[in-house]
Amino acid sequence: MNVFLIGANGQVGKHIVKFLQESEQYELTAMVRSKEQAESLNQIGVNAVVANLEGSVDKISEAMKGSDAVIFSAGSGGKTGPDKTLLVDLDGAVKSMEAAEKVGANRFVMVSAFKAYDRESWKESPIKPYMIAKHYADRMLVESNLNYTIFGPGLLLNEPGTGKIAVGETFEKTSIPREDVARTVVASLDEEKTYKKTIGLMSGETPVEDALKKIQ
Ligand code: NAP
Repeated sequence: MNVFLIGANGQVGKHIVKFLQESEQYELTAMVRSKEQAESLNQIGVNAVVANLEGSVDKISEAMKGSDAVIFSAGSGGKTGPDKTLLVDLDGAVKSMEAAEKVGANRFVMVSAFKAYDRESWKESPIKPYMIAKHYADRMLVESNLNYTIFGPGLLLNEPGTGKIAVGETFEKTSIPREDVARTVVASLDEEKTYKKTIGLMSGETPVEDALKKIQ
């Protein structure tokens, strides 16, 4: 399976690169937004393409050609304003879906945010514009023809992963290491139990593959 990773230079993205490189099942194309980033990925044996989510759907599609699956792990980050939230987290995500439909990459795994689907849960949030962007990007994905999985992780941590997660809607923990998000995203690519599902994701006690297999 050819996997196209959007946000490959990001903190979660770098872990996804590592897991995909380790797997024999997947061929990775990493999308980054600078030549330097592409070159450093090339140096570790990763096929990388330069494209920007603020560019056209045609340009993104061109980069994506030949892919079977897309992982979206890009984000405008906390240091930019609501303009980038709209341009990257919302429009960039929707353009990626349009590109995936155009090139026939039917599988689409989205790194979203916890309960982005539930307005009530973020109506008082200080990051409401970001949650709105994630909410509508996810809705577009659900309404698309793509075979999607939307993961809604809680607070992302930079501590080492444990390989153990919890999935669902109610949790003991409210955070998860980025490495475990990446492991979960990669494990979901061919796990049918995750197809067409929106899945809350936190640190937990169940090994990633087992947790995904138990999803109803
Ligand atoms: P990150 O480290 O900020 O990485 C985001 C990546 O997106 C970066 O590599 C960045 O490129 C790329 N990007 C930004 N604008 C772009 C554009 N116009 N075109 C192409 N790529 C672009 O984020 P993360 O920590 O890995 O988070 C991954 C995902 O989890 C994001 O979708 C985020 O919204 C979501 N999330 C975060 C939290 C949290 O606690 N922070 C919680 C839930 C969900 P550069 O490397 O060039 O800057």
